[in-house]
Amino acid sequence: RLSRLAAAACATLLAGNALAADAVTQRANALLARMTLEEKIGQLTQLGAEVPGPNKETPDALIRAGKAGSVLWTFDSDLIARLQRVAVKESRLGIPLLFGYDVIHGYKNVFPVPLGLAATWDPALVERSQAIAAKESWVAGVNWTFTPMVDIARDARWGRIVEGAGEDTFLGVAMARAQVRGLQGPALGTPERVLTSVKHFAAYGAADGGRDYDSVFVPEVQLRNVYFPPFQAAIDAGAGTVMSAYMTLNDVPASGNRWLLRDVLRGEMGFKGFVISDAFAVQSLENHGFAADNADAAARGLQAGVTMDMASNSYMRQLPALVKAGKVPQRVVDDAVREVLAVKLRMGLFERPYAGGGAPERKAAVFNDPAHRAATREAAQRSMVLLRNEGRALPLAASLKRIAVIGPLGDSGEDILGSWTVEKGPGVSVLAGIQARWPQAEVTFSAGGDMQRAYPLPWDADQGKAAPALMSAADQQAALAKAVEAARQAEAVVMVLGERANMSGEAASVASLALQGNQQALLEAVVATGKPVVLVLLNGRPLDIRWASEHVPAIVEAWFPGSEGGHAVADVLSGAVNPGGKLPVTWPRSTGHVPAYYNHNRTHADETGRTFTSRYATDAPSSPLYPFGHGLSYTSFAYGDVTLDRTTARAGEPVKVSVTVRNTGAVAGDEVVQLYTHQRSGSAARPQRELKGFQRIHLAPGATQTVSFTLGRDELKFWSPVTRAWGVEPAAFDVWVGGSSAATAHAEFRLTR
Ligand code: BGC
Repeated sequence: RLSRLAAAACATLLAGNALAADAVTQRANALLARMTLEEKIGQLTQLGAEVPGPNKETPDALIRAGKAGSVLWTFDSDLIARLQRVAVKESRLGIPLLFGYDVIHGYKNVFPVPLGLAATWDPALVERSQAIAAKESWVAGVNWTFTPMVDIARDARWGRIVEGAGEDTFLGVAMARAQVRGLQGPALGTPERVLTSVKHFAAYGAADGGRDYDSVFVPEVQLRNVYFPPFQAAIDAGAGTVMSAYMTLNDVPASGNRWLLRDVLRGEMGFKGFVISDAFAVQSLENHGFAADNADAAARGLQAGVTMDMASNSYMRQLPALVKAGKVPQRVVDDAVREVLAVKLRMGLFERPYAGGGAPERKAAVFNDPAHRAATREAAQRSMVLLRNEGRALPLAASLKRIAVIGPLGDSGEDILGSWTVEKGPGVSVLAGIQARWPQAEVTFSAGGDMQRAYPLPWDADQGKAAPALMSAADQQAALAKAVEAARQAEAVVMVLGERANMSGEAASVASLALQGNQQALLEAVVATGKPVVLVLLNGRPLDIRWASEHVPAIVEAWFPGSEGGHAVADVLSGAVNPGGKLPVTWPRSTGHVPAYYNHNRTHADETGRTFTSRYATDAPSSPLYPFGHGLSYTSFAYGDVTLDRTTARAGEPVKVSVTVRNTGAVAGDEVVQLYTHQRSGSAARPQRELKGFQRIHLAPGATQTVSFTLGRDELKFWSPVTRAWGVEPAAFDVWVGGSSAATAHAEFRLTR
């Protein structure tokens, strides 16, 4: 009876949605019927706020003429409100604009970079964080964010590894879903939320050599099993737009790739929103040696499935003539315009074009909401990963009287925020955080040198800026000597090393993961003083810290932790917060170890399992420095036996896996309980381990908790390159549960036909 009632309620809801969808289609069609060709193409055009039109027109003039559907690269609330007024009041049809911006990890209050958010292994926290980012964007007038980036990244040289959830598909799926829900809410048009854009479709993170924008060659089996699922999760969560990627994928540019954008995205994945190109990616179809000229680029971009042209104005320039000449069917334009109008209608943009309106008092009230600031601190605390803690070097004693903070990033309230920040306020530096946490102590700071760069960053070079002036060798040496002296005077040293914010992110790829500048020399010189040293890393990618992993007793990976970063670091160093974050990436020993990821296939081996096996033979162990999922705590956890509710099941039937975890130490702490599986045989080889479940739990000292996971069809299916279909195969499976991908507690089960 109950289930019948529930079914009836569902049917009513579905009918309501269907009606709403009908109403949207009707309104979109009615509008379309009134539009000129130029106005239609306008809806497919996103103007750069500072980029003049093809004939040097101002944005105002283009918008008034109905030649733009969206504007990007401004978060100036007054400008946004003014341009929206022009669209709504002064253009012939009054169609409101979308204002897009990269609000990646916070707007005014800055959260950890996405890689740090992934290290929380806490999707609920990530959803709450992005809801705050959405509200702050919305109140400023930005109604569309180009977030989340869900590109899987296995190569730490790639600068944008910082913008995603790391190397793992299962974790990436959870983070993609959480971010879309947080930013957009349960449905388009949720008050105080914004439209999302899941990017960059697809496999942009697999750039050759880790060089941003470079060619990608990824076979279909990996696209489907590794790279597509986070996009599917974001689409299922309702993401309103998808951004097409810059690079060529298997020789066809992603932004001109009909298979990708039509067959897979709209056909198989069921995407119902619209596709925005990456910036200038339509125009780039020509650079790729794919389109013959700009007109060909516009024609092929649109027909492949790029609905809206970001910033290149190729559609605006080329499509009118192409349609008139019959080279691009009118129907393709109409379908694209319908997609854009449908998103605007579903958002309620026609009824509420001004988002939060951008009034200064209203903005200030939202920006200064103490709950927002507190949320950034909590997220930062939970993102930190304790990589090493020999001899319980951490936490540092509350009674310390002389602390030396050393390293070029130690006093920076800017770098601690990471890349992609908007109307940010200053962040709390590690120095300031330590001063606040140890008010009785004398806390000194010495930079110890700088991170020298021989080349200007690409952005700076574009603007004609020269390479930063290099510190002379003598000055570096003097700075280093000063830092060593400060260490000698201290009871404990906190070294803050890693990367400046702009050294990771877009176009910020590196050829070497080594610490840049004189940081390694500085570290070695300070450790040589014999003082207790703690290393805090601020960075957007794993770095080569082999030396530190043997000589520095305590290492905390703090990522770029955001506005409250310095406080959160001090919370962890002092033990006020017990760290519980885990690595969302495999930590390679050296640059030569990348691409590095735990879920590779088993390899050929002789009977000893040692000789003819995939490994580096003479110079380095092949194992990672720290495995995927690794992270220590100030307490310890013991895992009981892995139990299964059955050891045989039919393929597709769920198997329940349980394990009991006990806090065996003296303080309360968090553990991320992780479940990995391996399918022992099948139509194709399967990875040696794959994450298929995780749960972050909190345990008081001595407390135990039983954690259960269900392995059903969704967890055990894969796309077989042999059957060319998704399926669960009958086979024997291994299961491991533990605190990292090196978990040892094991069980096995068998799936039958
Ligand atoms: C990046 C995108 C970003 C866009 C708009 C591009 O360069 O690749 O991730 O959303 O610019 O700023």
